[in-house]
Amino acid sequence: MAQSIDIQGGGLFQIAEPEAPSKRRRKPGKAIGIDLGTTHSLVAIAPNGAAPRVLADAEGQTLLHSVVSYAGGEVVVGRAARAVAVEHPEQVLSSVKRFMGRGPKDIDFTHPYRLADDAQVVRLDVADPGQPPRYVSPVEVSARILEVLRDRAEHELDDDVSGAVITVPAYFDEAQRQATKDAGRIAGLEVFRLLAEPTAAALAYGLDRQGRGEHGEGSFAVYDLGGGTFDISILRLRAGVFQVLATSGDSALGGDDFDRALAGHLRELAKLSAPSPAQQQELMLAARAAKEALSDAEVTSVTLERCELGPTQVTRAQLDALILPLVKRTIKVSKAALSDAGVDKRELDGVVLVGGSTRVPLVRKLVEQAFGREPLADIDPDKVVAYGAAIQADILSGSEREGVTLLDVVPLSLGLETMGGIVEKIIPRNATIPISARQVFTNYSEKQTGMTVHVVQGERELADDCRSLARFELRGIPRLPPSMARVEITFELDADALLTVTARELMTGVKQSIEVKPTYGLSGDEVDELVMDSLDHAREDFAARNLAEARVEMGRVMLALRTAIDEVGSIEGMLDPEEHAQILAALVECEAVMQQSEHADPINKAREQLEKRSEPFARRRMERALRAGMAGKSLAEIESALAEEQALDERRGAHAAEVIEPQ
Ligand code: ADP
Ligand code: MG
Repeated sequence: MAQSIDIQGGGLFQIAEPEAPSKRRRKPGKAIGIDLGTTHSLVAIAPNGAAPRVLADAEGQTLLHSVVSYAGGEVVVGRAARAVAVEHPEQVLSSVKRFMGRGPKDIDFTHPYRLADDAQVVRLDVADPGQPPRYVSPVEVSARILEVLRDRAEHELDDDVSGAVITVPAYFDEAQRQATKDAGRIAGLEVFRLLAEPTAAALAYGLDRQGRGEHGEGSFAVYDLGGGTFDISILRLRAGVFQVLATSGDSALGGDDFDRALAGHLRELAKLSAPSPAQQQELMLAARAAKEALSDAEVTSVTLERCELGPTQVTRAQLDALILPLVKRTIKVSKAALSDAGVDKRELDGVVLVGGSTRVPLVRKLVEQAFGREPLADIDPDKVVAYGAAIQADILSGSEREGVTLLDVVPLSLGLETMGGIVEKIIPRNATIPISARQVFTNYSEKQTGMTVHVVQGERELADDCRSLARFELRGIPRLPPSMARVEITFELDADALLTVTARELMTGVKQSIEVKPTYGLSGDEVDELVMDSLDHAREDFAARNLAEARVEMGRVMLALRTAIDEVGSIEGMLDPEEHAQILAALVECEAVMQQSEHADPINKAREQLEKRSEPFARRRMERALRAGMAGKSLAEIESALAEEQALDERRGAHAAEVIEPQ
């Protein structure tokens, strides 16, 4: 049978002040900002408060194609890799950001790669044809891209890069953020922090200085349509501090989909029913070139060698018709995000365009219509995120820049499973990060020497309805009288929303901690769904929680009483036979009520009666313990008696965690 422990003070928990970002002294002016994009990546610097600038390679190119080739057993990054994509479609990896922190089961989009389907996380086979498999992970591939950018920065900064800020989409979950951080580490970068892309864009526009009124308030929408992802974020500014009010988007919608739509059209024109991988690549590259040309021109011409299509005209009107449903989808999601944030479009102080795909005229037109104002677009939409990352990197390295604090929020509550399968929320939904929270649990019986810590995420009251993040065991708790052990559980959520859970027994210092790295996480839609779900189930959850709590409390009172009877019941004058029989009868009745009742009330009533009936016995035990103390009995025995009494007093409203059986 599992035994229980209490939370001291019943459901109370203490939230420490959010920790400031690391206070370590860093070299000013040597930190870099990186936009690790699906399609393009960039590195920028903004040393010592200077205006940010993007760094170029030896040929003067600033945009690095996020493409890595493994063909011929050689690793090639960027433009040169993209150039051989047609010949080696399976070994030239692009848009690898879509695979970051994901499992094979999450991959619901089309791609030309060979995936290992046995693994927990995606691995891609990049071996030459006929060779045994050679697997690379998306993290390694991203690290290759980051290495190139790091080299570029080291060249500029005389080999002295102190660290980096890397941007991620606003609703990257923990697994995706962790994967990005790992990629940075593999590339030899100290990742100061990850920064949400929309927040970076807002920083680049200096929106933190555009607040109105005495509190400097403002609301902004950031519309980011890149190559592979769409993000819409509603930010609120107050006194120079940004808060993300709502984020939404589609992690599988971007300019690549425009390319695919146009490639499909070209394929029809070329009358190809089943193009080879090489032909498919040619179609995609031609489609992208045509799409980009159509941002400036009304008409362009396409010629496909491999697909045997002579010079053919494509018009902007044709492209618009092909991509209209995709763009409309982004508008629908944008409107939903506004209403989520409780912001009317008339209250917005600005709309920011981010991402190469916002150059498409149809996108600009529909965004302007939807928000009823002309969007901000005078900073190059390809570079704006890297600029913001560079500014943040400069702030974190301690430069004398007017600093802003950027707030991110926890999308779903984080908590622990407690006895009865009840969830005790430790960090509530929408708390701003970084944050740490602590809660002290105590032992219930002296037999327990360990406990199971089960970390869950979600809004529902029962652990079964939440998402399980991690489970670990704290062993080696000393055998102590009830409620004398102090097990402190700490949840630490760092600036990148990565969670570390630590359990520590305060008397012995026995400690166990776990970094929570789910294999894959939740999309923005799934988060919304879970929150809606909790609202839908609020009433029944409340009842289920009450019932579970009533059972837990009843179980504990009964166990304490039985233990006391075993220990002191036979001692002269402690329990006369009639009283003993009454208590035993009450225990039997309580057991039955607990088993049969589906409601909390009858169980609580029965428990109160049991407590009343056994009160004289409890008082006698207390008096005896005190007398024993005066007779020179050990301090431990007095404490034991006091603690037992205290436990009886505190049981109302207390929760308990499931514990493992002692060895
Ligand atoms: P990501 O952040 O996903 O790496 P980017 O912001 O670099 O993406 O945007 C890349 C996308 O922007 C690609 O789909 C590319 O075709 C598109 N793009 C770039 N320039 C233009 C342009 N002039 N017109 C239309 N689309 C463009
Ligand atoms: Mg981008």
